[in-house]
Amino acid sequence: MKKVKGIVACLLVLSLASSLMACNQKTGDVNVRSKGKKTEETEETEKTKETTEATTTETSETTAEPTPPEPTSTPNLGFNAPEEGCKIEFPTRDVYHYNMTLKLDPTDNTVSGNIVFDFYNDSEDTWEKLCMRDYSSLFEDESMYGKDIKGALTVIENIDDSRTGELSYERDSSDVSVIWIDLDEALEPGEWMTLSYDFTAAVPEIDDRYGVWNGIYNITNFYPILAEYVDGDWSHLAFYDEGECFYSEISKYDVTIQVPEDYIVVTSGEEVSSESVADGIVYEYEADYVRDFVFCASNVFEIESRECEGINVNVLYNKENPPTSDMSKSVEKTFYTCDNSFKAFNEAFGTYPYGELDVVLAPIAAGGMEYPNLIIINDAYCSGFYTQNDYEVLETCVAHEIGHQWFMGIVGSNSGGEPWLDESVTSYTELVYCEYVGGSIADNNLPISSKDLLDLSDPEQAAQYSVCFPLDRPHDEFEGYAYVYGVYQVGKDMLYQMDECLGTDEFHAVLREYVHRYAFTNATTHDFLEVLYEYAGYDNETLNNLVANCLQTEI
Ligand SMILES: [Zn+2]
Repeated sequence: MKKVKGIVACLLVLSLASSLMACNQKTGDVNVRSKGKKTEETEETEKTKETTEATTTETSETTAEPTPPEPTSTPNLGFNAPEEGCKIEFPTRDVYHYNMTLKLDPTDNTVSGNIVFDFYNDSEDTWEKLCMRDYSSLFEDESMYGKDIKGALTVIENIDDSRTGELSYERDSSDVSVIWIDLDEALEPGEWMTLSYDFTAAVPEIDDRYGVWNGIYNITNFYPILAEYVDGDWSHLAFYDEGECFYSEISKYDVTIQVPEDYIVVTSGEEVSSESVADGIVYEYEADYVRDFVFCASNVFEIESRECEGINVNVLYNKENPPTSDMSKSVEKTFYTCDNSFKAFNEAFGTYPYGELDVVLAPIAAGGMEYPNLIIINDAYCSGFYTQNDYEVLETCVAHEIGHQWFMGIVGSNSGGEPWLDESVTSYTELVYCEYVGGSIADNNLPISSKDLLDLSDPEQAAQYSVCFPLDRPHDEFEGYAYVYGVYQVGKDMLYQMDECLGTDEFHAVLREYVHRYAFTNATTHDFLEVLYEYAGYDNETLNNLVANCLQTEI
């Protein structure tokens, strides 16, 4: 595991990708693209109709036999997609439940607590053992940071199966973040059990998505969480810092967090109550139908709150050590982006079903990082070089991380096993955002048409990106920079060209159906393609070539 600081996730990638693409990009009115394309399609369809009619008439005169219609590339509307701006309903089934009693202790930089976890065997196999992920232990390895960041193995104690009593655990010999728990009594398919455990995790002193830096605690992927059981085995892909390997089930969380009294806390959930205690304050949160729970806490946070499209949005930054002396423009741009992201994405993918979103501007290694209902944005984008061009880098990064609320949060996937489904689809949401907002950010980010990009439906042009293909493979099967460039840029181009060949409204309908069908579950590339082909049919040659050239999943 090697840390590649600076080319992690979202926006830094975007900046580099943009420069790499610069020779191919033009700017212009994006609306022309959509309207122009539709006009061409309409004309083409009409021509096809005329030809078909002419052929039919001619044939009728000579044989009197009906002629089958010529195949066209018109979408066959294999389903009625949900309407634009449709409501995304929470599931009615019983879901996993975590009851967490947590304490953040800044005196020794630990987060600890007790977890009572109710869950069931959601597979068709009997579970003799459980696999948990304990990502916080990975920071005990300081070799990748080159300095003492004060990480440590997480202490896990008092593991108890409500059915049989105390259990023990073992760390995987090849990966300290993989915890194996042998069950004394197997868990049958559909059977529920309650597992309780205590844990104490060290918070490393590092400016990253998990860690404390300049008084801000980013507490993410910090507690032992059940891994996914898929296709007869527990999924436990290696963690990698330049991407993700997080993969979990939609759950309900009831959480209390004790912090010092002067701390501001934001979380994946919504605050229910607060109570002063002898050595601090205890906040209570509910987070329903999320696939992880994270929080950020600090006594140096400035917090500003506004309503954007009916969602309570909190924007936070370090008031004692801000990246620039005047944060007002960045904060204003962040709220503006939240408002427009909700407008654009609600319409395109279905309405954000939660009540809150927290945007934490903090120094992290990536451009940004997404968690359920909470995103962390690199506060470097608030100052210096990145403030040029009206903070558009900040804007695109915030839009990208909000896009993840649909493609990671609502529809989950195996982010390490099929990273394109997570990052390419979310990178495409940047284009949805830019197209919605229009103006200079659209001019600077949207190609006018696929003519400005390599045509990925053309095998010879696609071959220029051959190192990135197939896109639908695990992170560790990409070599070098091919992962970052492939899943963030080439995958975005592929989806953009799917959008072009189906039409933007039609492609959004496909994505709405995908969200509707797989909301609050984990989807796969096969699931995505199934929806796509159900809608588009199998006779769209451009689409078929795009899929064949870029992906390996067959349908
Ligand atoms: Zn992303």
